[in-house]
Amino acid sequence: MGLVVQKYGGSSVADAEGIKRVAKRIVDAKKNGNQVVVVVSAMGDTTDELIDLAEQVSPIPAGREFDMLLTAGERISMALLAMAIKNLGHEAQSFTGSQAGVITDSVHNKARIIDVTPGRIRTALDEGNIAIVAGFQGVSQDKKDITTLGRGGSDTTAVALAAALDAEVCEIYTDVDGVFTADPRVVKKARKIDWISFEDMLELAASGSKVLLHRCVEYARRYNIPIHVRSSFSGLRGTWVSNEPQGDQQVEHAIISGVAHDVSEAKITVVGVPDKPGEAAAIFRAIANAEVNIDMVVQNVSAASTGLTDISFTLPKAEGRKAIDALERTKATIGFESLRYDDQIAKISLVGAGMKTNPGVTAGFFEALSDAGVNIELISTSEIRISVVTRADDVNEAVRAVHTAFGLDSDSDEAVVYGGTGR
Ligand code: ADP
Ligand code: ASP
Ligand code: MG
Repeated sequence: MGLVVQKYGGSSVADAEGIKRVAKRIVDAKKNGNQVVVVVSAMGDTTDELIDLAEQVSPIPAGREFDMLLTAGERISMALLAMAIKNLGHEAQSFTGSQAGVITDSVHNKARIIDVTPGRIRTALDEGNIAIVAGFQGVSQDKKDITTLGRGGSDTTAVALAAALDAEVCEIYTDVDGVFTADPRVVKKARKIDWISFEDMLELAASGSKVLLHRCVEYARRYNIPIHVRSSFSGLRGTWVSNEPQGDQQVEHAIISGVAHDVSEAKITVVGVPDKPGEAAAIFRAIANAEVNIDMVVQNVSAASTGLTDISFTLPKAEGRKAIDALERTKATIGFESLRYDDQIAKISLVGAGMKTNPGVTAGFFEALSDAGVNIELISTSEIRISVVTRADDVNEAVRAVHTAFGLDSDSDEAVVYGGTGR
C-alpha cells in the first residue's frame, strides 16, 4: 500500500460544493488502496479577507496575533473536509499544524519548518483514517506559539509532510492543469509543461509563478520528493517536478522553460547616498535588522560633482512600511538625502537552463520588451534567469510579448483556468 500526500489549494475548496467535490477525489485515492494524507488551504480568499480585517483594526498587526488569526482559515476548511469525507462513509480526522507535528522557528508570518514529527498522523493512518492537515501553519519550537509559513505556505506543509512520512508522491491540486510556460490567467496561449526540473521550477517559483511556492520546491529538492501539480477540477495528468524525468514524462529541450511575472513587490530608492565605503552595508544592515527580505539591488554611478549616488532595491510590498521605518530611523547616521517608495512596479523573468549555453537570450528578451514599448527600470540575472522591473501597467502586455518572441505560444487549446480569483 502506498502513501500519498495531496494538497488542495483555496480555489479547490472555495465553497461547500468544492469541499464535497474534493472529498470524493480523496475517497477515490483511498479506494485505490493508498494511505492518504491531505493538506488543505483556507477556503477561497479567506486569508486575504482575514488580512484586510486585521489591517482595519491595526495598521501593523502584532505578528503573534496575526498568525493566530490567519490559521483560523485552514481550521475551517480542514474540519469541513473531514465532515464531508465522513459523510461519504469513510473515516477521517483533521489536525492543526501543531497537532500534525509541524515544528517551526519563531519568526511570525514567515516561519520556517525546522522539524516534522507526524506521530499522530501515523497513528490516524494506521487506524484506517484519512488524515486532514491544516496547511500553512506550525508551532514554534521555543515559545510553543502558533506560526504561519508565509503566503502560499500550504504547498510547503504538503512537501514537508510527504518527506517526513516517506510518501511516494506529493500531489498539489490547484485551479489550472499544471505548470504552464506562463500564467494562464495572462497568456491564453501558454503551454502545459509535462515535466520540469527542480532547478527550473525553483527559479520560476522565485520569480513569481505562484502555482508552486519557492520554499516548497526547495524542500522537495532537498528530500527528493517528486511533485505532481494538477487540477482538482479535471482528471487530466498535470506537471511532474523532479530531479529526473520518469517513465513517459516528456522532456522538452527548449532553451526557455517559461516566463514568470510578479506584481507583489515594491521598489525603494535611497536618494543621495555618499559614495564611500560602508554606506551600502549600513543601509542593508538596517533592512536586515528589520527582518525584511530584499530581492534586486541596483546602485547608480555617482555624479562626479556631488559625490552622491542612488541605491534602489525591491522587496515584498507587504514589508514596505517596515523597511521605510527602519531606514528613516537610521537616516541621520547613514546620511542619505531622501527615500522614494514605488509600489506600481512589476517584475518579469525569463527562466531556462538552456540559456547557459545559448547566446542572444538577453538581447532577444530586451528586444521583445522594446518592440512592445515597455521600458526597463532594473535588471538582474542568474545563470538560468533574466529579470527586469517595469511599470505594473505594462506587465500583461510584456509577458505576452516575451512568450511569443521565444516561440512558447501553443497553437492548440487555450489554457484553462477552472476557478480562483487570481487574488
Ligand atoms: P491554490 O489556491 O491552489 O494554491 P494559487 O493561486 O496559489 O492556487 O496558484 C495557482 C495559480 O497560479 C493559477 O491560477 C495561476 O493563475 C497562477 N500561475 C502563475 N504562474 C503560473 C504558471 N507558470 N503555471 C500555472 N499557473 C501559474
Ligand atoms: N491560505 C494561505 C494563503 O492564502 C496559505 C495557502 O493557501 O497556501 O496564503
Ligand atoms: Mg498556492
